[in-house]
Amino acid sequence: MAPLRKAVTILSIAAFFSEHIKAVPIDGPYEPIPPTTLDLSYQFPEFSDIDAPTCTTVDSAMNLENGLIDKRYRWKEFNVQPDPAYNQREYKLINDALFNLKKALPCIKFGIFPPNKKVKGDYVYVIKGKKNGCNSYVGRVGGKQTMNLQSPGCMTVGTIMHEMIHALGFYHEQSRPDRDNYVNILWKNIQPGMESNFNKYSTNKVTTFDVPYNYKSIMHYEGYAFSKNRQPTIVAKNGDKVGSVGKLQDTDILKLKRMYNCP
Ligand SMILES: [Zn+2]
Repeated sequence: MAPLRKAVTILSIAAFFSEHIKAVPIDGPYEPIPPTTLDLSYQFPEFSDIDAPTCTTVDSAMNLENGLIDKRYRWKEFNVQPDPAYNQREYKLINDALFNLKKALPCIKFGIFPPNKKVKGDYVYVIKGKKNGCNSYVGRVGGKQTMNLQSPGCMTVGTIMHEMIHALGFYHEQSRPDRDNYVNILWKNIQPGMESNFNKYSTNKVTTFDVPYNYKSIMHYEGYAFSKNRQPTIVAKNGDKVGSVGKLQDTDILKLKRMYNCP
């Protein structure tokens, strides 16, 4: 190929690519739309509590002196992109969970990027999978961060909100610094290797935002989480039943609002 012709070819290839890239704009994020059903805690009959894996978290602040009191883990805009493997019904459940959180936390923008589309900024990429469990990083990591919501098993509005609240910056209710005033952890009943899921975090790292402990918090484990012997692993000191009922409690909303300085 003659040098001039070669140069023209290279230029036109470059022009094609730059035009092509420009032709694929970032799509979204779109605001979650109002759910079509009024009962947001609905479960689907094919899922039972027994099938639902217990939530584990990934500690994004593990190696830092300060944890989630630190504002750098917070979001200005909370955007998610679901895996294209989710079907329409599952996509809608993710939408509904985000819509609920948006109502609880009106000063933060919530958005969904359509699957398979180009995205920008900090966002949570939600992976479907069959055996990857329900888990999330705690707080904003920066750029793309993953969350696992296996199906079946994790696809209820309550469980999705629970994982999203981890990503917004909260650990489990039973990890609060003051939890020993409210619950006993029965270490002898916990599956070996799973003890770290019952860690308590110090006041250097997390704060209760002066919100009372709530056994029904959407962030509270159920009483038999990670049991090795069908005996309870967490019991309330006052005899109450412990564990999320799949709904945001007033205390959950208050903690979110205080973390994000939301009136
Ligand atoms: Zn969790």
